[in-house]
Amino acid sequence: MDVHRQSCAPLPELGLSFCPFPLRDKRQHLRYEKRMTDIITSTESLAAACSRFATFDFVTVDTEFMRETTYWPKLCIIQIASADEAVIIDAEAPGLDLAPFFALMADETVMKVFHAARQDIEIVWHLGGILPHPIFDTQVAAMVCGYGESISYDQLVGRITGHPIDKSSRFTDWSRRPLTEHQVEYALADVTHLRDVYLALKGKLESQGRSDWVAEEMDVLTSVDTYQVEPENAWKRLKMRIKKPLQLAVLMEIAAWRESEAQARDVPRGRIIKDDAIYEIAEQLPTTAEALGRLRTIPKGFERSRTAEDILAAVKRAAAIPKDQLPRVPKTRPMSDGNGAAVDLLKVLLKMTSEEHGVAARVIATVDELEAIAADDDAGVAPLAGWRRDLFGENALKLKRGEIALRLDGRRVSIVRDRDPAAPL
Ligand SMILES: [Zn+2]
Repeated sequence: MDVHRQSCAPLPELGLSFCPFPLRDKRQHLRYEKRMTDIITSTESLAAACSRFATFDFVTVDTEFMRETTYWPKLCIIQIASADEAVIIDAEAPGLDLAPFFALMADETVMKVFHAARQDIEIVWHLGGILPHPIFDTQVAAMVCGYGESISYDQLVGRITGHPIDKSSRFTDWSRRPLTEHQVEYALADVTHLRDVYLALKGKLESQGRSDWVAEEMDVLTSVDTYQVEPENAWKRLKMRIKKPLQLAVLMEIAAWRESEAQARDVPRGRIIKDDAIYEIAEQLPTTAEALGRLRTIPKGFERSRTAEDILAAVKRAAAIPKDQLPRVPKTRPMSDGNGAAVDLLKVLLKMTSEEHGVAARVIATVDELEAIAADDDAGVAPLAGWRRDLFGENALKLKRGEIALRLDGRRVSIVRDRDPAAPL
């Protein structure tokens, strides 16, 4: 439906006021103005919009932010759509209080629909101290409905509505003002098509009886633990190249110190000290400024900075930990202890299950979880609980016990059941 394309040119004698389709230039201008009024910059208009949104069963939500030069993402705009309207909130507008938006996010009577919700929720949590609830993540739902792993918004919109999305503004500067018409259009498309995507996926989940499966995933996305960045846990995001307990203790100390420092100064972690430098310090254990200055990864003159003092203090703290209280170095993948082939067979069962039921393998089980199952029938992992157990976990255990087998039938893998484990195949 594109009435805007129709031309009034053949009817010039009617004059503009009688023309059922206003002239193209005028039209664009009107549309532009209309779009511009959609941008909310005052607390009053935000409160009014949010109270309109609160009357709907669901709203679609997206945020655009920048985090290249900061630790915390810098929120630039928020887009929200109901069945009736779509708005852009200029989060950087002077004096704008986002409280009505946070209230809508926490409104239990309104479902908040996101695509790949995690970063959006992280921002709301950081700025407003609340977690949006209830929520629906169309990326997770798509994985449960057979659209593969981590499908992008553009692809999902294309496959569900057939509507192509213009991606040219994806890496645009969302902090510039005024936003261009193109940016506004792009930003609104992130929530307008999401309405159709949500309704389609919701219907699919209901007809397949899988609504509960997605609900479980949403619990993780709306749990405080998911977003709490504790400096003490910062070392976990570093790749483990460390072999000795003392080195690990230093790595943990410095990673924790760097995380607090990056949070307090609101700069990316790498601006405080690079990952490579953390590894080198953990390996070389410098305790003096001179020793620190000799490290390959430390910039010249750095050893005389306040930051260097903090690092040396962290090394000394770790060195003071009594031997029997040093952290244990986590074991690298237990593939060598004879489980390798078992894990591979479980992977085949997982892949087969994923294809047969149209559920992305990733939401059923991870490789770590397969390894845990291969090692222990009672491993407390997700695939051995709830719907995952029905779909996969039970079969995984039976496969381990030899109660079922996998058979390759041409190109198709299938399960052989009810066989006596002692009998030859
Ligand atoms: Zn977006």
